[in-house]
Amino acid sequence: ECTIPRIVTWSKNIDSMLGGGVALQTITELCGAPGSGKTQLSLQICVDVQIPECFGGIGGEAVFIDTSSNFCPRRVREMADSCSNHCQILSESLDSDQRKHSKHFTSNSIMNGIHVVSIHGITQLIAAVKLLPQALEQHSKIKLIVIDSLAFPFNCGESCNTLNRTSYVYRILSDLQTLAVKKCLAVVVTNQLTTRIVKSINTKSELSPALGESMGHRVNCRLLLGRIPGGDVAAILLKGNNQSSSSAKFKITKAGIRD
Ligand code: ATP
Repeated sequence: ECTIPRIVTWSKNIDSMLGGGVALQTITELCGAPGSGKTQLSLQICVDVQIPECFGGIGGEAVFIDTSSNFCPRRVREMADSCSNHCQILSESLDSDQRKHSKHFTSNSIMNGIHVVSIHGITQLIAAVKLLPQALEQHSKIKLIVIDSLAFPFNCGESCNTLNRTSYVYRILSDLQTLAVKKCLAVVVTNQLTTRIVKSINTKSELSPALGESMGHRVNCRLLLGRIPGGDVAAILLKGNNQSSSSAKFKITKAGIRD
C-alpha cells in the first residue's frame, strides 16, 4: 500500500488519516451535510495535486466536474495564492536549477491547471465521464478527477427511479475506477447527506448519504465530514484500509484547508 503515490494536502491530520495523503488509483468519497466543507476540501486537493515534485508534490493537473455550480474561481485563487507563496518561500532553500523550475509554479499556473467542466443533469454527467479518456490524452498531466457533487444530478429533475439511479452510479464509478488504475490518478467524489427518518423505539432522524450503500461498495475510501463546536471540521474515516487514525480535524481558512 505504501507504494501508491499520494496527493499531500495542507492538513497533516488528513494526510496521516489517509496514510500519507489522497491515494492515486483510488476513489475517495467525501460525504457530509451542506456546508461541511466537501467543496472546500475538493478545491484544495485540486490545488495540492499541482505542487511540483521539488516541493514534495506530484506536479499534476485536475479536472473538476461541477454539477451544481459550486466552482468559485475567486475562492480557488485564494488557495492558489497561499500555496504558490508558500512554495516561493520554500524555493529559497533549493539549488538554483530547481529554483528556476519552481518559478513556473504561480497562482495563475494553478488556476490554469484546473480544468472545469460544468454539467447539468445525469445525461451530461454520463457524457462528461465518457469523454474523460479523450481529455486525458490531450492533457497528460491530469492526476485528479473531482466530481462535485456526484449525488446532485440524481436528486433533482430528470425522472430516475432507484434501480436506474443505482445502475447509473455503478457505471460512472466503474468507469472512474478503470481510469484511476489505468492512468494512475486519484478520483474524489462528493455526496450529500439527507435526513432520513429512522423508525425506531424513539423515532429519531438520522443523516444518511444521498447515494447510499450501493455507492459505498464502489468507493475505496469514504470520509464523513461534519462541523464540530468551534467551527472546525471533523473528518471520520468510514471506509479505507488505514492504520494510524480514524479521524482528523481541520480548519477552513482564507488560505484553504489547514490543521
Ligand atoms: P454543499 O453540500 O452545500 O455543497 P459543502 O459541504 O460542499 O456544502 P463547502 O461549500 O465546502 O460545503 O463549505 C462552505 C463553508 O466553507 C462555508 O460555510 C464557510 O464556512 C467555509 N468557507 C468558504 N470560504 C471560506 C473562506 N474564504 N474562509 C473561511 N471559510 C470559508
